[in-house]
Amino acid sequence: MKLHSLVLKACLFTLCACLAPPAPADSQESIKLFISVDLEGIGGVGSPLMTSSGGKDYGTSRQYMTQEVNAVVAAIFERIPSADILVNDSHGDHQNVLHGELDPRISYIQGSIKPLGMVQGLDSSFDGAIFIGYHAKAGDPDGFLAHTGSGSVKGLWLNDVEVGEGGMNAAFAGSLGVPVILVSGDSAAAAELGQLLGSETVTTKTAETPSSARLRHPDVVRTMLREMTGVALDRLSSNGFSPLELGSPVEIKMRFTSTTHVDVLQSIPGMSKVDGYTVRYMARSMDEAYRLIRLMYRFVSA
Ligand SMILES: [Zn+2]
Repeated sequence: MKLHSLVLKACLFTLCACLAPPAPADSQESIKLFISVDLEGIGGVGSPLMTSSGGKDYGTSRQYMTQEVNAVVAAIFERIPSADILVNDSHGDHQNVLHGELDPRISYIQGSIKPLGMVQGLDSSFDGAIFIGYHAKAGDPDGFLAHTGSGSVKGLWLNDVEVGEGGMNAAFAGSLGVPVILVSGDSAAAAELGQLLGSETVTTKTAETPSSARLRHPDVVRTMLREMTGVALDRLSSNGFSPLELGSPVEIKMRFTSTTHVDVLQSIPGMSKVDGYTVRYMARSMDEAYRLIRLMYRFVSA
């Protein structure tokens, strides 16, 4: 349910309070939240191998990831028992979260063959979005495993705003009127997205180098996540967040690590070449932009 309808309902409830019996505690508040969960920024994950299926301690990463989702979800249900929550697995092959160990009250999307990738399932009916376990954009020297989409991308700009995965996903949410209320990840991701989105943030680790991290204990991270989810929900209930609106059309500029990628992409009508490593495309909407970007970095190999 959208907040303006909640406000209207609250006003009507006040007017009718003398006529109707009191409603159950949770019936005044119904909320719909979308959670996208990546892996690089999860607490306790401090090496590249932990993010790769088949890598050392990947199974432990899956447990930490699942527990972080459950920590956020528990904090939501504690405040709003009737909450409607959709979790979208958003790392690698999008088959990481241990479904059987998730809170059974939520819905969960698994599998990566989906055109909207990390934001699959998100639509304008949601009141807010939460990004868990995120990382900084490609090229951030202070980021842990910083990248944008895949290793073949050096940079991405939407209407001249440089974004990583978090910014791109937030722009998609913003085009639907949905604000990002909470982001967790390494210190560079928290700084990048806290500044761009004005979201509440939880810092799970700090990069020692681009592929090693100084970690906060997973228990500490989960405690912070529960606390900050409460803070974010309080702020959301007073309309304290603004969706990231980039407007339309959306100019995409994408810079790759190889000239081959750019040459192959010239087969797409409307795609132009800015320089040997960079393409440009004018998308009519953020929805079109998102689908094309995902196609370019994930499903086109060069
Ligand atoms: Zn990832």
